[in-house]
Amino acid sequence: MSAKIRLYVEHPLGLGQSVPLDRGQANYLFAVMRMAVGGQVKLFNGRDGEWLADIAQAGKRAGVLTCTAQTKPLQMPPDLWLVFAPIKKARTDFIVEKAAEMGAARIVPVQTVFTNSDRIRQDRLQAHAVEAAEQCGGTYVPEVADLQKLSRLLDHWPEGRQLMFCDEAEVGNALALAAAQKSDAPWAILIGPEGGFSEAERERLHALPYSHVVSLGPRILRADTAAVAAMTLWQQALGDW
Ligand code: SAH
Repeated sequence: MSAKIRLYVEHPLGLGQSVPLDRGQANYLFAVMRMAVGGQVKLFNGRDGEWLADIAQAGKRAGVLTCTAQTKPLQMPPDLWLVFAPIKKARTDFIVEKAAEMGAARIVPVQTVFTNSDRIRQDRLQAHAVEAAEQCGGTYVPEVADLQKLSRLLDHWPEGRQLMFCDEAEVGNALALAAAQKSDAPWAILIGPEGGFSEAERERLHALPYSHVVSLGPRILRADTAAVAAMTLWQQALGDW
């Protein structure tokens, strides 16, 4: 039987390596998916690529897998951050899931002036990123950072990282990303909340030397749509597509 199930584990992976399963994974494989000793799954841990593994032990609350062959090397996404203001729960989940699928290296939720939420469930969002990576065949899981203030993030902005600032005030203008040259420079995409950016934020973002102000076309997109559209444009122009 060909291995269809992909699982993210934290354990090191390598030829002959035994990998213990946690309770949730054992329950999923053996109770939900009805897998048994001798069955095969694929494993990745974000560091060692993807491995085919045989089920060596299967119990109700635990299990052990043995790695038998590497099926993919580790493939790192480009060094792209998705910086976005969290919106309603289901739409925020969607943004994190799509960011992982689209090949963001890091997901950075930020509080802007017009952001409504003042907390996120980082652990839940991280679990969404893991699930998306399991599903899309990626060998890497982007980290979901804790919520931080946009102003603070900009105060400590890393040297050399370029910023694709998606500014709804540019609606209808031409996309400005074409001028950016393909290079190994690290990048970030910034998407605002439903309320958009404040005038003071816009002024600061426009003045940053590393900021590239971008329009996403002739219509105002919802933040979750804007995030996917922006990642598509960036990946196509500068990324690994
Ligand atoms: N309430 C605002 C829209 C916010 S849309 C208004 O009516 O003006 C949410 C975010 O999506 C924006 O902050 C921006 O980052 C992005 N966005 C949506 N449509 C866009 C467009 N046409 N061009 C650039 N960015 C856009």
